[in-house]
Amino acid sequence: MKAILINKENDTYSSTLTDVDEASLPEGDVTVKVDYSTLNYKDGLAITGKSPVVRKFPMVPGVDLAGTIETSTNPDFKVGDKVVLNGWGVGEVHWGGLAQKARLKGDWLVPLPDAFTTRQAMAIGTAGYTSMLCVMALESQGITPDKGDILVTGSVGGVGSFAISLLSKLGYNVIASTGRPDQADYLKELGAADIIDRAELSSPGRALGKERWAGAIDTVGSHTLANICASIKYGGAVAACGLAQGMDLPTTVMPFILRGVILHGVDSVNCPKEKRLEAWSRLARDLDTTHMDLITNEIPLSEAITKAGELLNGTVRGRTIVNVNK
Ligand code: NDP
Repeated sequence: MKAILINKENDTYSSTLTDVDEASLPEGDVTVKVDYSTLNYKDGLAITGKSPVVRKFPMVPGVDLAGTIETSTNPDFKVGDKVVLNGWGVGEVHWGGLAQKARLKGDWLVPLPDAFTTRQAMAIGTAGYTSMLCVMALESQGITPDKGDILVTGSVGGVGSFAISLLSKLGYNVIASTGRPDQADYLKELGAADIIDRAELSSPGRALGKERWAGAIDTVGSHTLANICASIKYGGAVAACGLAQGMDLPTTVMPFILRGVILHGVDSVNCPKEKRLEAWSRLARDLDTTHMDLITNEIPLSEAITKAGELLNGTVRGRTIVNVNK
């Protein structure tokens, strides 16, 4: 089978497209014939080696995949079932989706929702599923559309693009923060009502600012997240899932103790199965599928290594689906 393989020998880190013997696949109770995987921010870090995402070598990257069960001893899945996988350390400590086959634990899988093809499921991928988890987090904190504007950061990226699309379909007034003002038309087409320059939020700011947003979905972290917390309205909430600016959080307790702001962390990797199933069924119900083509582009497996570098440089728009059989 064809696969991207990451190796680290002595101090040399390498990612190559290669032929791998299927007998080398790791242990698991299901084998999946992969149709599509994707490139997420974490895959970019893994392939380029810019961050220690991969903790076992050799490793096949790819934190998500969609395909068809080829063999199974798991009672919940039979040969021919279509499935989706996100996270669980796949592509980090267990071989992942950037290969024509994957051997996995059946308990990690979600049945492909009827509403989607395997390609559409990967257009959504971990980014879209995470943005749904973020929307659910805001809802769980009582942030309804009548409460006020919702800010989305990293908005031209994968999580940001889907967050805008989902929130606007659900009736929220969405403000998109971006470093790419030339993408304003794209963001408006997804449903953003207004756009702000990310530079407004990225430098050290005040402990408390003007109350601007009822809620936010933040993919950026660092000073941006600190400034967001300082400008959330009384009783509002932030769903924080990313670190594109940095993993630090130079904030104070002021927004939390004076305005009751909730900082709700969102994790997609070890998210319990019940919540995953809810997120995927909400995606099937709430996602405007006409936005999928706008958000995604497709590449063959042979281009995944080059594209990973571009993703980290912030030049890729939306989501990149990888057709592992091309
Ligand atoms: P993308 O690479 O698609 O998008 C990231 C976006 O962040 C860019 O498009 C850019 O948006 C913005 N950005 C990049 N660098 C900076 C910077 N220095 N300062 C401010 N903004 C910046 O990544 P994803 O959307 O896939 O992921 C976004 C983040 O969420 C990542 O940190 C990722 O690791 C994390 N994530 C976390 C998950 C979880 O389970 N918690 C799951 C999935 C992702 P623009 O050009 O519009 O400014």
